[in-house]
Amino acid sequence: MITEEFLMENLSLIMPEKRFRHSVGVADTAEKLAKKYGSDPFKARIAGLLHDIARDFDDNEMLQRAKKFNLAVSEYGFAMPLLLHGPVAAVMAREEYGITEPEILNAIALHTVGSEYMSQLDKIIFVADKIEPNRRHAGVDEIRRQANKDLDAALLSCFDESIRYTLKLGCLLHPTSVKARNSILVDQGSFRK
Ligand code: FE
Ligand code: FE
Repeated sequence: MITEEFLMENLSLIMPEKRFRHSVGVADTAEKLAKKYGSDPFKARIAGLLHDIARDFDDNEMLQRAKKFNLAVSEYGFAMPLLLHGPVAAVMAREEYGITEPEILNAIALHTVGSEYMSQLDKIIFVADKIEPNRRHAGVDEIRRQANKDLDAALLSCFDESIRYTLKLGCLLHPTSVKARNSILVDQGSFRK
């Protein structure tokens, strides 16, 4: 198994500085959340460090990699290749960094659009990505507070916020994000209003 020291050193050399700082922030935040909610802190750190390793590819490179890795690319992936940076990063984590734990690979793959079926670690990485210390967006402090008390509430806020933001930009809304968001409400039994 790869050591964290090796990963930190390697990523600090290949990632743009801002992205590297963000990734370390996600790893730190995910580790804390993992301890709080009973997930494996080491797996959380590794997933946090690697979640954005494909984030800086341009559209062409992203689609090329997705093809090379035999990933299923939907119409949304073709329209917005950036959405593929989670699934592409998960394959890179396996092929280039030797990560074999499905929990880590899934959490990396799902961090962009989410899923209706998210494990505890998937949720932790998704939320940590939005609230790590370098994040400054409006509403982030409230989500940080929620993440300390109720992971699902924080996750719901993350989806709500990213959906709102996508609508504001007039960008394509991925239906999986909407399904993921709705599934939290259904789980909570709080959808009849
Ligand atoms: Fe990302
Ligand atoms: Fe990220």
